[in-house]
Amino acid sequence: MCGIIGVNPSGGIQRYDAGQCAVLGLFAIQHRGQESCGVALSDGNKIILRKEMGLVKEVFPDNEAQKLDGKLAIGHVRYPTKGKSDIKNAQPHVLTTLHGPCFALASNGDIVNYKNLREELEKEGVFFESDNDGELILKYIGFWHITKNYSIIGAIKRVMANFQASYSSLLLTKDRIYAFRDPFGNRPLVIGKTDEGTFVFASETCSLDILDAHFIREVRPGEIVWVQDGQLQSHQENPDMYRLHHHNAQCVFEMIYFSRPDSIVFGHKVYDFRERIGSKLAENETIKPDIVIPVPDSSNFIGLGYAKKLGVEFDLGLIRNHYIGRTFIKPAQTFRDEGVRQKFNVLPEYLNDKIVTLVDDSIVRGTTLKKIVRLLKKNGAKEVHVRIGSPMIKYSCYYGIDTPTREELIASQKSIEDIRAFLDADSLRYLTLEELKNIVTQNEEFCYACFDGIYPIRLYNQV
Ligand code: AMP
Repeated sequence: MCGIIGVNPSGGIQRYDAGQCAVLGLFAIQHRGQESCGVALSDGNKIILRKEMGLVKEVFPDNEAQKLDGKLAIGHVRYPTKGKSDIKNAQPHVLTTLHGPCFALASNGDIVNYKNLREELEKEGVFFESDNDGELILKYIGFWHITKNYSIIGAIKRVMANFQASYSSLLLTKDRIYAFRDPFGNRPLVIGKTDEGTFVFASETCSLDILDAHFIREVRPGEIVWVQDGQLQSHQENPDMYRLHHHNAQCVFEMIYFSRPDSIVFGHKVYDFRERIGSKLAENETIKPDIVIPVPDSSNFIGLGYAKKLGVEFDLGLIRNHYIGRTFIKPAQTFRDEGVRQKFNVLPEYLNDKIVTLVDDSIVRGTTLKKIVRLLKKNGAKEVHVRIGSPMIKYSCYYGIDTPTREELIASQKSIEDIRAFLDADSLRYLTLEELKNIVTQNEEFCYACFDGIYPIRLYNQV
């Protein structure tokens, strides 16, 4: 999973603060990736790139962000899914010809047929520096545009015809940014505009808010947009030409877990969607706890919706250390185990001799919850009932959410009762897929593969 931002002042190329705006926009989507970040800029004549391993505030402290003079900018925060965690895989990627850097690209998503496409290009003599999907998209566009004389739109159309999703991407040329989204619409990408006429493309609307840009709309599945003469231009491919089943496959997990609650994703206000999950979970509840505690921060609104519906006290009995980073992101299990303890602390006064319902958004490996249940009991909770705001995650995601192999997914190996016993919880209940679909309503628009194993985007060698 990653986050992308593009800043494109309209009315000709005038403003020089696009790079600083891109950095600000990246701050807002830091939750989408903390491994590395970067910004590519164009001043109209040349493209320059600045990327490093680390958080946005580390790579672009104030004095560095101010040096990012540019008229157009794209930026990226990376959360490694495929590909090693090193600087070579950091984005944006830049394509350089004999005349210097000509394109840069930032992308969010995973390409399912990466291997085949890369081999195809390598046979043509194209050289790769990383094993990152973004570089593949960039080099593919470069190949068809530069070597085969396709227009840029024509080269992006070839991407749509040949790449199996997912990708939401921003291509920077010397004088333009092209934003495009795969025909399944698997990853989010929105368009906003400031009062001064600067267009902003971003993974989430929270980046628009920080830049005072108004949300205009999403980039549609199979659409390419760019700014020309101050106006937004669009080329819309018929997405059904490229889809096995004629429907979108927007990632429902974006709304359950990944996106920020203050964003609007796939037409849903994320915080409201999560409250509705909580409320749904509470509908058939048989346990009336003394207190509802969410696992912060991702489950706060699910917990809130749940407590409101049940009419039970809601308290933030678990305190999260925001500076430790996402435990899940640490590559090895030993790090993950330590991370959970360092990340959460409890307020025992809320727990003493109480029946607690602990609400979490999802269980992946079960590492986090097991430790939290233990922590709550150790600090006085009489009973801990666990409620999960998503269905059981039984299948790996190949489209950009970093889920582990099936064997590591606890729900693919164990029954609900076995998981309850593993967690040492007094009861355990998940939101069912039917309940989730009931909340989403436009179900044909969404991908539920991690829950039901029905992969809407064709898989190649992965399974
Ligand atoms: P685990 O300990 O492996 O069960 O991790 C579950 C927790 O990690 C959940 O409570 C989520 O908040 C979070 N989570 C779920 N999916 C992901 C993901 N793909 N990347 C990072 N964190 C995740």
